[in-house]
Amino acid sequence: MVDIDLVLRSTRVITPEGTRPAAIAVSGGTIAGVWAHDAEVPAGAVLEDVGDDVVLPGLVDSHVHVNDPGRTEWEGFWTATRAAAAGGITTIVDMPLNSLPPTTTVDNLRTKQEVARAKAHVDVGFWGGALPDNVKDLRPLHDAGVYGFKCFLSPSGVEEFPELDQEQLARSLAEIAGFDGLMIVHAEDPHHLAAAPQKSSSQYADFLASRPRDAENTAIGNLIDQARRLDARVHVLHLSSSDALPLIAAAKAEGVKVTVESCPHFLTLTAEEVPDGATEFKCCPPIREAVNQDALWQGLADGVIDCIVSDHSPSTADLKTPDFSSAWGGISSLQLGLPAIWTEARRRGFDLTDVVRWMSEGPARLAGLDRKGAIETGRDADFAVVDPDATFTVDPADLQHRNRITAYAGKTLHGVVTSTWLRGEKINDRGTLAEPSGRLLERNN
Ligand SMILES: [Zn+2]
Repeated sequence: MVDIDLVLRSTRVITPEGTRPAAIAVSGGTIAGVWAHDAEVPAGAVLEDVGDDVVLPGLVDSHVHVNDPGRTEWEGFWTATRAAAAGGITTIVDMPLNSLPPTTTVDNLRTKQEVARAKAHVDVGFWGGALPDNVKDLRPLHDAGVYGFKCFLSPSGVEEFPELDQEQLARSLAEIAGFDGLMIVHAEDPHHLAAAPQKSSSQYADFLASRPRDAENTAIGNLIDQARRLDARVHVLHLSSSDALPLIAAAKAEGVKVTVESCPHFLTLTAEEVPDGATEFKCCPPIREAVNQDALWQGLADGVIDCIVSDHSPSTADLKTPDFSSAWGGISSLQLGLPAIWTEARRRGFDLTDVVRWMSEGPARLAGLDRKGAIETGRDADFAVVDPDATFTVDPADLQHRNRITAYAGKTLHGVVTSTWLRGEKINDRGTLAEPSGRLLERNN
């Protein structure tokens, strides 16, 4: 019999078998059992009864740009992981670009880990980057513990992280497939982007026209072809164009190893509502029309879309100029993803078990984080406790990320995160955050 140090009790615990009243027994940061709600609390264990608040497995956000070191005026491990903890997220996987250095060699990975170590309020893993000239670094990065590799097919927005052409993509994919690694891809085709009308404008419609659906559809089609040919594992990042869903569904049915994510902003915000000059709504690919959003939700319902992650990509306010063509592209939603998605999901008839599948289980599976993503014996005792019926109005002053710019300001959302738990420790108590206790995660650790 192991020593139980914590029992977390609720009338609504979301387990892989469904939602039920339960008492989660925790020993040394690991879930030791999921017991009956009225199970006796062992001597020496602390009881935390959260009543009717729902206990979810801690969310996993596999798409976060922390930008630390190098562009820490944009974001950093301290602020990003506090935002995560406040939002019910217990694990993030950091993107390889926008930090200096980018995560494209083992030395660079070690530099980033050193910076992150003392600042992590949640667990932090790292993606590596695939550049035109670093094929030789991919296997060493894989061996050093990155969860996969990110590449761009069109310009990334920062010069130290160039995109791959189709030939370079094939070379990197072949290398990665050789060790059964994962390539995660920003899929917009550069030729379609170059052919689209580009103009300086504060009108959202002009920006939308500059990033057409065809650019995504074509890039995804090419990526699927390459994955099929090389028997490689690929993942489509931040899907916005719903036109690509049939293509992805067909590839999956055929056995091509492709997965896909979408993001809260594509699923809860629409092109029609973006005010002139409101570049806090700018990201690439862009937020599209309401009818496109409906189709993305259908993609979630059908299981074609595997997960929802933030693509939290902040910058300083001065880079969010009112001109959509030159403003920095990126939406900051680490802290708000869960309530934003839950608010829209409940309106559309989904329940919290769906949200858990998309925002915890799905991203954990994508990255291969087998201790995360579910409330079951043997996994880390990571939890998000949520009052699903409570509402709040988004006030940028309440946000923990460094630059409090948000496309959600003023929105009233359902779902208040009342506490967040990391390996059995309460790291967020109604917005009061504990000292950092996050760990740096490496693949196969
Ligand atoms: Zn991103």
